[in-house]
Amino acid sequence: MSHPHITLNQINTLPRAEAAALLSGLYEHSDWIAEQALDARPFASAAALKHAMVKVLANAGRAPQLALVRAHPELAGKAMVSKSLTAESTHEQTKAGLTHCTPEEFAQIQQLNASYNAKFGFPFILAVRGPRGTGLNKQQIIRTFERRLHNHPDYELAECLRNIHRIVEIRLNDKLGYEPALGHEVWDWHEWLAQFSDAQDALTVTYLTDAHLKCARTIELGMKACGFDEVRIDAVGNVVGVYKAASHNAKTLMTGSHYDTVRNGGKYDGRLGIFVPMACVRELARAGKRLPFNLEVVAFAEEEGQRYKATFLGSGALVGDFKKEWLDQQDADGVPLRQAMAQAGLDINDIPKLTRNAAEYVGFVEVHIEQGPVLNELDIPLGVVTSINGSVRFVGEIVGMASHAGTTPMDRRRDAATAVAELALYVEKRAAQGANLVGTIGMLSVPNGSINVVPGRCQFSLDLRATTNELRDSLMHDVEAELQAICQRRGVHYTLEETMRASAAPSDAKLQSRWENAVHSLGVPVFHLPSGAGHDAMKLHEVMPQAMLFVRGQNAGISHNPLESSTSDDIQLAIDAFMHLLHHLHA
Ligand SMILES: [Zn+2]
Repeated sequence: MSHPHITLNQINTLPRAEAAALLSGLYEHSDWIAEQALDARPFASAAALKHAMVKVLANAGRAPQLALVRAHPELAGKAMVSKSLTAESTHEQTKAGLTHCTPEEFAQIQQLNASYNAKFGFPFILAVRGPRGTGLNKQQIIRTFERRLHNHPDYELAECLRNIHRIVEIRLNDKLGYEPALGHEVWDWHEWLAQFSDAQDALTVTYLTDAHLKCARTIELGMKACGFDEVRIDAVGNVVGVYKAASHNAKTLMTGSHYDTVRNGGKYDGRLGIFVPMACVRELARAGKRLPFNLEVVAFAEEEGQRYKATFLGSGALVGDFKKEWLDQQDADGVPLRQAMAQAGLDINDIPKLTRNAAEYVGFVEVHIEQGPVLNELDIPLGVVTSINGSVRFVGEIVGMASHAGTTPMDRRRDAATAVAELALYVEKRAAQGANLVGTIGMLSVPNGSINVVPGRCQFSLDLRATTNELRDSLMHDVEAELQAICQRRGVHYTLEETMRASAAPSDAKLQSRWENAVHSLGVPVFHLPSGAGHDAMKLHEVMPQAMLFVRGQNAGISHNPLESSTSDDIQLAIDAFMHLLHHLHA
């Protein structure tokens, strides 16, 4: 569009009506949202203005929200055919190729529009310019449409609103003539790295496979191109880049995350925490700037525990917790870890030398995609992590009495499966009582079960997590007491074996406050949350202070799934936050 760009200064300083006029057209036929947001002037940043508009709509209530959704045209719908779309919508739908559908695609989209409208009573809304702003292709659009048809109506209304805010984000960027240039670039790096996979048609990068080694080499070359002073691949396959301090004898800040993935995983899990600091180093090197501390960026080789049973092989080695017996573990093809490492040219004798001397470090920080729905639901781009949850896992079995389903009266049964079901309901209720407590019975099976037999045995798993060890343990004790009570009442007995226990890793107060300041400086809300998942920072926590920053994930924050997604605008904010932290951390 050929309009001259507007500036944030104009929005902050012009008389209200004139400023509102500049923001006209952001929300489809709904200029009141931007207008009301002007109450929050002055805005420290475009991100602050975006968030103010999000808040106006969130506080407006359901009726105006529905009206806004209904003010939107259908995708490739009648308005497009009759050319009565707004200029902005025409631009967006053309960019996505929707104005050039084949008759079959057009018919398919019409059918989806009809089904969606019939189910939800409002049109399907998708930010067709996508997470990078360059446009989703027609297949991506149709697949997203089909997927979202299965959602709950309340969720779908919220998802439409989130997509509207994303549409507005891009429209506002266009008005301001702003591009999240580094965000785009780092987004593209994720695409580039995702070309290497153990599997076709899915992103799978497990420890020391061909694809894994190519990833390491690519990251190594990338770090060199960014201007790191030292880049090496260490004895467990970590790619380590150091950007040296202005002076000798300076301490070191470590950061990084993992480049391996789960099977059929997402492109951002782990990798975001490697690429964000790499982009910062490149900017520093280009500007010829040095920090008062060394910056060590580690791309950890292994975190997910996919090929071998052991996990955190990469970060474990740095804290002296790479166990010799792991070398005898075998993958699904019977290849021992020792052999895989030798084939990759890694020298296991050097592993003990990787242990860092914590006294030389300021600490560890990690950027990671949230892998949960919280930030997405609240429309907040960044989150400051307060703690990585402690967890404990069990496998258990309840043993009752298998008996005839037709002849055993209900009051004389010793049903092992209903006993586990009762426990699962208790876990759900008990965990819901505490903030940030979670409990899951994820596996439940009746060995040799049969349709006409009362279950005599039922095996189950139990996973409990909490922000502190104390909360985790009290949850654990309550669940065990309930298990005992259930079994006593039902005349069955149980076994319960603990298989894993990890301590909670509360964030270091000083490093956490650096993240808070950084996020605050961007003009977006400083939101705190614990991490439900384990991360490399959890291992580093064993020897040095650590704090993490979460970045919002799209698609309800889904992770360990190809739908995992992040926008280049959010990635840009993460880079800006990281840069702020680097400039304000005095070692
Ligand atoms: Zn991860």
